[in-house]
Amino acid sequence: MPTARDPAHTSEETIAAIATPPGAGGIGIIRISGPLSRSILSRLFTPRKPLSSFASHRMYYGWMTEPESGQLLDEVLAVFMEAPNTYTREDVVEIHCHGSYLILEQILRQVFHSGARPAQPGEFTKRAFLNGRIDLTRAEAVVDLLSARTGPALDLAFGQLQGHLHQQVMDIREALLGVRAVIEVAIDFPEDEAEILDSAILGNRLIAVESALQRLLAAADHGKIFREGISAVILGRPNVGKSSLLNTLLREERALVTPVPGTTRDTIEEYVDIRGVPVRLIDTAGIRETTEAVEELGIQRARAKSAEADLILFLVDGSVPLQEEDRTLYASINTTDCQGSVLVVINKTDLVSGFDLTHFSGDFPGQTLVPISARNHDGIDALRDAVFAAVVSRGEGGLNPGDVGCAPNVRHRAALDAALEGCLRARKGLEGNQPPDLVAVDLQAALGSLADIVGETTTEDMLDMIFERFCIGK
Ligand code: GDP
Repeated sequence: MPTARDPAHTSEETIAAIATPPGAGGIGIIRISGPLSRSILSRLFTPRKPLSSFASHRMYYGWMTEPESGQLLDEVLAVFMEAPNTYTREDVVEIHCHGSYLILEQILRQVFHSGARPAQPGEFTKRAFLNGRIDLTRAEAVVDLLSARTGPALDLAFGQLQGHLHQQVMDIREALLGVRAVIEVAIDFPEDEAEILDSAILGNRLIAVESALQRLLAAADHGKIFREGISAVILGRPNVGKSSLLNTLLREERALVTPVPGTTRDTIEEYVDIRGVPVRLIDTAGIRETTEAVEELGIQRARAKSAEADLILFLVDGSVPLQEEDRTLYASINTTDCQGSVLVVINKTDLVSGFDLTHFSGDFPGQTLVPISARNHDGIDALRDAVFAAVVSRGEGGLNPGDVGCAPNVRHRAALDAALEGCLRARKGLEGNQPPDLVAVDLQAALGSLADIVGETTTEDMLDMIFERFCIGK
């Protein structure tokens, strides 16, 4: 059933959660939203100076106490924010406590005793959406913002939070509505149909819509790389310098270590930040075993690793001629699905005066060769550029899809695809002189997909799936 957003939607229930991450911190914040927010604060909070009522959006200093026993729980700052100028558009309270999880839990328990219930993951943001403060693309941007690992990922999420995707989808919709209006006139005045339906003019308007959709689709590919990152593996026979390269990359560009969204908190993975792309180095522990012979390392294992990776850095020792072992290993990975994303990295160039890359190009036809010295850190900048170029595709004319300022996600992508499909069918229909009511059906399908993106027609199940990805307290 469609969940039309209701500007007057307010929940009967008051929700509460700890909004700051677990563990000790300078400050820990409890957030409450809903009709009981103010009365819960009045019940548990004793301001330093007596007051008759809380002024909205003003910090008060005082103490949280257990009302029955009068036991002091913490010294805090508290703020009451009256609807509708709040995150959720409901009455909201924030209690800024000392950042001890024990204190926060004790206070939260009292908040629950006073009538609130535990918030579900993302429920504050979901209420902001349901109450019409933000559209669905902005709500989703909140998750991306919290889980961004690199600067560009953050910029894209922030752009989306500011409404860039929403605006572009609305502009596309506006253009489509214009085309639909003409079609509707043709339906209403069948005798003038031929005159009204100038397929050249309407076709051009649809082509413009299609390119706008394609631009967003390209941005989705681009955004996925920055949001989710890519996986890479360094392969090569023993002693070519895999560990050395790995250490150089890790030492220089270790990205923030964050849990990957959708996985448990135990599986923390390590990313290096390469030109803003979070690059996960696969099974780095295994690659550090430097004494294994290629046979022991196992062609199968190399194959498995390379199939798992988005990018292979195939490392060879540039100070000696290519060995049979190099060739065997390279042949094994080059037959996998991954062969489009192999970079051949020629290491130890410091050992050869006047190093000449062309000695190796014959062995790796059509591949990008990057000379480096892992020991001296030579060529590492160029390697970063090569990695970036290999994974971030640019459109025609070097257009950076990131320029659209947002990163449509998988859900948006599917809807954009469907919208594009509808437009293409509508244009074909017009060109083939199909009856206007059939063309209108295709246009309506495209418009429906656009409405899904911003959350005008999203189902309850879909909303649950989206907000499940949030943490509790957001
Ligand atoms: P792995 O077995 O492929 O992991 O190779 P290592 O990183 O353990 O390196 C093998 C040997 O080559 C070590 O003695 C490194 O110090 C040396 N090595 C690695 N990179 C370079 C380099 O760029 N130049 C020179 N001269 N030696 C290097």
